[in-house]
Amino acid sequence: MAEIVLEGVTKRFPDGSVAVKDVDLDIADGEFVILVGPSGCGKSTTLNMIAGLEDITEGTLRIGGRVVNDLAPKERDVAMVFQSYALYPHMSVRENMGFPLRLAKVDKATIAGKVEEAARVLDLSEFLDRKPAHLSGGQRQRVAMGRAIVRDPEAFLMDEPLSNLDAKLRVQMRTQISRLQRRLGTTTVYVTHDQTEAMTLGDRVVVMRQGLVQQIGAPAHLYDLPRNLFVAGFIGSPAMNFVGAVLEAGVLRSPLGDLLLDDRTRRALERRNAPRDVIVGLRPEAFEDAALAREPGGPVLTVTVDVLESLGSDVYVHFGAEGGPVTTTELEELATDSGLRDTGAGAAQQIVARLDAATRA
Ligand code: ATP
Repeated sequence: MAEIVLEGVTKRFPDGSVAVKDVDLDIADGEFVILVGPSGCGKSTTLNMIAGLEDITEGTLRIGGRVVNDLAPKERDVAMVFQSYALYPHMSVRENMGFPLRLAKVDKATIAGKVEEAARVLDLSEFLDRKPAHLSGGQRQRVAMGRAIVRDPEAFLMDEPLSNLDAKLRVQMRTQISRLQRRLGTTTVYVTHDQTEAMTLGDRVVVMRQGLVQQIGAPAHLYDLPRNLFVAGFIGSPAMNFVGAVLEAGVLRSPLGDLLLDDRTRRALERRNAPRDVIVGLRPEAFEDAALAREPGGPVLTVTVDVLESLGSDVYVHFGAEGGPVTTTELEELATDSGLRDTGAGAAQQIVARLDAATRA
């Protein structure tokens, strides 16, 4: 069993800065966990402590039930995949992939078998005799993965493994990593600053900010029930819209207009003793064209369109509101059918806002 457990793990660097503060994390055997957060939030430092590349200042780290705080990286039986791939340029793909096994003095026939099996899984068989310089970025990335796989480690630790690839290849490799992880069933901790990767790859996502864990949960849980404004704004693309509002007898008076609360949201706010001044979070898909509304009778807002952005499959409609611009993805039909695309900026439109999330100020 290769569960990874962090208890009160803190990292203080010699200059006194604290990069990771009192992190508790319980990763189950076979689980795929993503550490996500903005630059400098401490996710790589956390991964490096699990790998043994950074000392742990305080707290306990267990891998497969053993306390490993004082074990060297090679004694932890984990395999790291770096953003830079860290391949040896003078070695062929075959030699690169077999390298950790050669270091571990595994016999040649076993190495050859394992390398060939990993190459098959990763679709690299035809490249085994090439040097890294003669491979594409995606192929190099797969060699780095292969080098981790041949060791059959207790866990994979991956630090932004896709960030050197172009957007299309990143999407392809994302699917491949996800498939591979499910097939191998190896506990995996994956660091990224890309919330789309976090949402699509992991069983659970750990959102970090300034060295602190903000929330841990399944992707859908973080999306639907963010614990605070940071998580609400970080998870989701385009980002959640925030508008300030005043709560008065079950109505939110906002710069967008009055938003009526449904019973469930009203009760939840009462239970939490919500203050009068609140911040309302509206997902971009929480709006509907009033004329096409699936459930008529919601609060109708009149908004003025600032900018239309067409991404092919989606249209982002940005409209002005006091306190900042608001974005929706749900007016596409309106944009195409009513000629809004031609009218463009300045067109007044009636839309319906559904309150999917109301966040306490
Ligand atoms: P990124 O996405 O930019 O890689 P990150 O979330 O992985 O960011 P870390 O690399 O873990 O962030 O760094 C966390 C904090 O610790 C940052 O403020 C960083 O400047 C600081 N830090 C990292 N290494 C050291 C070091 N050796 N000495 C002092 N501070 C450090």
